[in-house]
Amino acid sequence: MKFIHEDFLLETPTARRLYHQFAEPEPILDYHCHLSPRDIAENRRFNDLFEIWLAGDHYKWRAMRFNGVAERYCTGEATPFEKFQAWAATVPHTLRNPLYHWTHLELKRYFGIDEQLNEQSAARIWKKANQRLATPELTAHGILKRFNVVSLCTTDDPVDDLQHHQSLAGSTLATRVLPAFRPDSALAVHDPAPFNHWVKRLAQAADVDIGDFASFLEALSLRHDYFHAHGCRLSDHGLDRCYADFCSMKAAAAIFARARRGQAVSSEDQSRFAAFMMLFFGRLDSDKGWTKQLHLGALRDNNQRRRQQLGPNTGFDSIGDAPQATALAAYLDALDREESLPKTIIYCSNPADNYVFATMIGNFQDGAVPGKVQLGSGWWFLDQKEGMEWQLNALSNLGLLSRFVGMVTDSRSFMSYPRHEYFRRVLCNLLGRDVEAGEIPEDDMLLGPMIRNICYGNAQRYLALPADDAPGEPGQQTAARPNGQPGVKRLKRKLED
Ligand SMILES: [Zn+2]
Repeated sequence: MKFIHEDFLLETPTARRLYHQFAEPEPILDYHCHLSPRDIAENRRFNDLFEIWLAGDHYKWRAMRFNGVAERYCTGEATPFEKFQAWAATVPHTLRNPLYHWTHLELKRYFGIDEQLNEQSAARIWKKANQRLATPELTAHGILKRFNVVSLCTTDDPVDDLQHHQSLAGSTLATRVLPAFRPDSALAVHDPAPFNHWVKRLAQAADVDIGDFASFLEALSLRHDYFHAHGCRLSDHGLDRCYADFCSMKAAAAIFARARRGQAVSSEDQSRFAAFMMLFFGRLDSDKGWTKQLHLGALRDNNQRRRQQLGPNTGFDSIGDAPQATALAAYLDALDREESLPKTIIYCSNPADNYVFATMIGNFQDGAVPGKVQLGSGWWFLDQKEGMEWQLNALSNLGLLSRFVGMVTDSRSFMSYPRHEYFRRVLCNLLGRDVEAGEIPEDDMLLGPMIRNICYGNAQRYLALPADDAPGEPGQQTAARPNGQPGVKRLKRKLED
């Protein structure tokens, strides 16, 4: 039996039937990724397998270091082919790591390569893949078409001018490419120099003179409007944990002023400031009907020596074990109490928190939007077969799996689209196993729509991305917010109180 075959990961006849009949044909809505908008706008053509597959991939670097490969071949000065060879020699050692599955699934789906990657096959696979990369089918646009990606959302800083999204909106590309609003820099008052540099860029982007805290909020609100006008319907926050030590606007303004003067802000004050800002961002999202994403609990940059040598996001992060429940409950509740809780997707980095988060989301369902608060798909270290099963089982046992908005690649690479296929196989395998165990009925009227919805339909309805013909139609924005900027107005009222 070939390794990556038609029924890969599908253990039962029912699983195979469910996957091929219901999951496989669905299009992809990749609502959280880190693809470069510029690469998409310019329809990037990749020169070799290194460029599209290895550059910037910290999962692979971690495995290579684990395997005793020198840094020169991971992030260092070695040539692209030398780096590829070092990766190829590592692959056999990744057996039972998800990298082994991803590697061969990706080689098969992009290049039709069935051969196992190792030291012996490296040169052959390099040549064959590079030949295929020179064809139009494997440019950025070719890939989006091949994988039937209907829409994707990139991850963007509020100061970004979105010029590439603009040019894509006017292009003939069938995939809708929309921005997502990630304002993590707005919380970072504990590091005044980069914070002030970012505030300067924010002032320029919003064309607002940021003299005080109110104008800072106004500038952010204007960028939120700008993103909305460019089709953005999601925000995203990467946080160790939620912030719940809420403070008054006066207190937040005082902390902001200290950071603006370049003075160090204590971690307690940073936390209070961030709590205030997270409520502010919650209101902005709620006012416009956006979906908020919370990526909680990663413990980043744990190796200081490597951080100094190589910078962040180079493969020295792990799962954190900070307590999540109390602060998450307080944050969601604070927004809910003032009817400003947006649709929210919470991604969990620690599998020990799956049940915690799965029960938390049940507290804030509103009886209007199905699955208003979601447990996100297996994230980062949990984006693998076992992690996906844990997430699906937690959601099934404590919530409604049928309302799940499904998978995202969360990837920087154009080679990650088979992650959706992988997820769909895992999902259908679980359901097929249940059917054959007699635990759920073998009823296609029940299972078919559920599978289709989890693969695509739920996300499509839940996110309510702008229609193809009207991304960024200004009329929508005014209709959604007849009173201008209620988030800011409400805050100003609070300040006056
Ligand atoms: Zn992400």
